[in-house]
Amino acid sequence: MSKFFSKKFRELVPYTPGEQPTDGRYIKLNTNESPFPPSPTVEKAVTEEIKKLSLYSDPRNSALRAALAKVYGVCLEQVTVSNGSDEMLNLAFMAFADKQRPLAFPDITYGFYPVFAKLNGIPYEEIPLKEDFSIDPDDYTGIGKTIVIANPNAPTGLSLSLEEIEKIAADANRGGNVLIVDEAYVDFGAQSAVKLVDSYDNLLVIGTFSKSRSMAGARLGFAIGNRALIEDLDTLRYSTNPYNVNRMTAAAGTAALQENEYYMENCRKIVRNREKTTRELRLLGFEVLPSSANFIFVRHHAVGGEKLYAELKKRGILVRHFQKKRIEAYNRITVGTAEQMDQLVQTLRALLEELQI
Ligand SMILES: *Cc1c(COP(=O)(O)O)cnc(C)c1O
Repeated sequence: MSKFFSKKFRELVPYTPGEQPTDGRYIKLNTNESPFPPSPTVEKAVTEEIKKLSLYSDPRNSALRAALAKVYGVCLEQVTVSNGSDEMLNLAFMAFADKQRPLAFPDITYGFYPVFAKLNGIPYEEIPLKEDFSIDPDDYTGIGKTIVIANPNAPTGLSLSLEEIEKIAADANRGGNVLIVDEAYVDFGAQSAVKLVDSYDNLLVIGTFSKSRSMAGARLGFAIGNRALIEDLDTLRYSTNPYNVNRMTAAAGTAALQENEYYMENCRKIVRNREKTTRELRLLGFEVLPSSANFIFVRHHAVGGEKLYAELKKRGILVRHFQKKRIEAYNRITVGTAEQMDQLVQTLRALLEELQI
């Protein structure tokens, strides 16, 4: 740390991203990326767009927002976009929470929430998940705070029903608070809250192209909500970086939405692989939480979480382990192709035999 670093950031502990090895030696099941490439028209659209790189991108992102509005059945004014959904989460925290209106989110959830809260000097309450790692909607009613819920939640993969989300949204609405629903994994089996945005002017849904649309490296996120909420986010976006979404990414995103069915079919493949892997790992003695996402959260009674992570890494498979109290025994494993999952199951079977379990 330099002596020049602002006092207000000295205590900041930054988010730790999952490992991104560059040597291609690993089966990479650690950061919930899609194992499938973008659709062919995405490549074409990006190649075309390169010719216009000397020009700034469209700060209104008209074409991309129109495509999003169409796919999600909302108006253009109900959509805005960001450089990955992480940026949108940060903007939403800045916009809708402060010292007078603290944040509330689960104790076990996306690790970026406490980081963004601290970055912006927003106090927050971490509400414990139930013993089975599920969210109790009643814990989020009558609390008078800005609420952030990942649905499905990460790293558990568990989801709330639309009725449960609506219950929280309605209660927060009566109390004059915003509910932010982070739907990074919604396409793998949960119900989207987008259909509620016309009924609740306090509901903001945040999505990403990183997981279900094979574009983690392009950095594209979006928010859907009441137009006044979107206007607030845009005020902050124009106050920080109006060109937050670059030309190539905007072109890629617009093209991807034109082939939405390709991506939804990929999601169905992932769901099939997830269900098969879940069955196989349970037969090997693993406890696997019922996931609605493109990852599973697993533990084995006879092998520690960190040990399992290290043994898999030695054998060329990267998964995600979190050094965090309640979940130390677990690993989060991204669901990849059928071949990658077979490889994982075989490796785990051999490992358990070696350890004589
Ligand atoms: C991956 C993820 C995101 C953000 O991803 P971006 O790549 O920044 O769009 C947001 N929320 C959760 C819960 C995630 O797991």
